[in-house]
Amino acid sequence: MTPHSETDVLIVGAGPVGMVLACELLQQGVRTRIIDRGEPAAPDDPHSRAILVLPRTLELLGRIGVSEGLVARGRQVPAIRYYSRDRLLGTAHIDRLDGTPFRFVLSLPQRETEHVLHGRLLELGGTIEHGVALEALDADGTRPRVRLRHADGAAETVTPGWVVGADGAASTTRKLLGLRLEGDATDVTYVIADVPVSELPSTDAHYHYSRAGLVAIVPMRNDLCRVAGNLPHRSAGSEPAWRELIQQMLDQRTGLQLTAGEPTYARLVRPRCGAAPRFRSGRVLLAGDAAHVITPAGGQGMNLGIQDAVNLAWKLAGVVRGELDESVIDSYDRERRAAVQRMARTTARIVGLARPRNALRAAVRDTVVMAAGRTGLLHRALAPHLSQLDVDYGGARRAGRRAPAADLPALDRDRYTVVLWPGRQVPAGWPAKRAETQRRLGGRLRIVDLGALAPSAPLRRCFGHRARIVVLRPDGHVGHVSPISRPQEVAAFLRAVMS
Ligand SMILES: Cc1cc2nc3c(=O)[nH]c(=O)nc-3n(C[C@H](O)[C@H](O)[C@H](O)COP(=O)(O)OP(=O)(O)OC[C@H]3O[C@@H](n4cnc5c(N)ncnc54)[C@H](O)[C@@H]3O)c2cc1C
Repeated sequence: MTPHSETDVLIVGAGPVGMVLACELLQQGVRTRIIDRGEPAAPDDPHSRAILVLPRTLELLGRIGVSEGLVARGRQVPAIRYYSRDRLLGTAHIDRLDGTPFRFVLSLPQRETEHVLHGRLLELGGTIEHGVALEALDADGTRPRVRLRHADGAAETVTPGWVVGADGAASTTRKLLGLRLEGDATDVTYVIADVPVSELPSTDAHYHYSRAGLVAIVPMRNDLCRVAGNLPHRSAGSEPAWRELIQQMLDQRTGLQLTAGEPTYARLVRPRCGAAPRFRSGRVLLAGDAAHVITPAGGQGMNLGIQDAVNLAWKLAGVVRGELDESVIDSYDRERRAAVQRMARTTARIVGLARPRNALRAAVRDTVVMAAGRTGLLHRALAPHLSQLDVDYGGARRAGRRAPAADLPALDRDRYTVVLWPGRQVPAGWPAKRAETQRRLGGRLRIVDLGALAPSAPLRRCFGHRARIVVLRPDGHVGHVSPISRPQEVAAFLRAVMS
């Protein structure tokens, strides 16, 4: 374990986001401490929360070696079907996506995802310090000054190099920075339950829209389904009769003969949505629900947070190792905020469609969704979007795009990789061009020559038809692109970002 005086990064909160960040940093040799004010979950704790692990999240979790373990535990859901009551409007086929090894969404309760992450954290030499809470924070100095409170009442003051608040929707870190969640007015109460459902017609996820609202049904392992639906707001108080409530939703909203059993887990949630106005204050950063909360419709929240952790990890590790300029950390806020805002708009739309103001609007919704299904829009646009495979961090030329993981050889996990892309056809003088790039870049980075690779459609979509030099970031997004004839531009890009 790292002596506390030498902590490079203190992570506050050991939910899925804090644990992914800790695994990433430990694996990259960063001296990391992770605390959580709660005690470890009891083995019979039925908490379930986020049920979907999306294809892009599985790709990224491959970096810390846990995706196969997660897939082995969960259930693969090949498609998402949209219904108006019992009439099929269209299907988003995740199983027909290209450029990813994960052509399904994984249905797995959050507690099991956390169990796998915790196991990996221990393997990497980390320990979660339970019963230790962040209590006070001064972000103004060159190193943050932090006061922690231990379960036995003892106080401890530490000055780590960086602090990351991954302490959830009610984040103490965010509050101590004087920040609030802002800008998303979505205010919906949901019932969320894991429940046996008999007679479900397929292994796909089902979204049924009706005049009474939306009900989503996602198959899980062990003959359970996640059933979720919007409800009128309720005053706090007595618990509903869960089985009856769910049966009523299934009857009213699906029009199918489905029978609900007794739930193993059920709760009402009314999340306060929004994003912090900034994700960075000096050397204190916010990630996951601490930085942003979106409505749970669509099952995207935890996945966004895990992508935050990976986006931040390679940048922080590069800065701590002295390889990257500290300015690279600024891109974290810009990139992740844009991705979160885009997904928040989608989930707000899903919620809006669930609550049409009158029958005419419901009919328009059904027609639009059906047209999107018939024209292939659900497949071309919605399936990659809901899988978070279309995250694009924006930038000049093709920078910011996600490179298709399944079509590329392994990249350098912790550093930039330079890719030589021949385009539609390998151009004349290719070996000389490769040699020139190698000479210019001076052997600091791995260079991968795709000249011998059959150019797949996903690679062509990402890199284009012309011969190019592409710098790929450790998270698999394009960092920079130059024409093959201009390796000096790549060298200039690397000089600017590397210290
Ligand atoms: C009912 C429900 C259903 C959901 N369904 C989905 C879904 O289907 N798909 C999806 O993607 N997302 C879903 N979500 C959202 C998902 O659960 C969250 O996005 C996810 O848990 C966020 O992870 P996190 O690590 O950021 O925060 P959390 O999981 O909240 O973890 C934060 C941790 O920080 C600790 N902590 C808090 N304060 C302090 C402090 N002062 N000091 C030290 N430690 C502290 C807490 O003890 C906790 O362990 C759902 C959420 C709920 C509530």
